[in-house]
Amino acid sequence: MAEKACRHCLRILEGNSCPICGTSDLAEEWNGLVIILDPERSEIAKKLGVDIPDKFALKVR
Ligand SMILES: [Zn+2]
Repeated sequence: MAEKACRHCLRILEGNSCPICGTSDLAEEWNGLVIILDPERSEIAKKLGVDIPDKFALKVR
């Protein structure tokens, strides 16, 4: 199954809904994979508003 990105929190996931927001508003087309390992110390995590370690998309369509 292709990976999708949540339009709300930008999390990369597989399946039909986002485990974080619970939304099924997912983008099949997205750009820029970011892996956040340490959200506390990551500038990108702050920019994206991310506070959990995971994979995120920079842009969704
Ligand atoms: Zn989400």
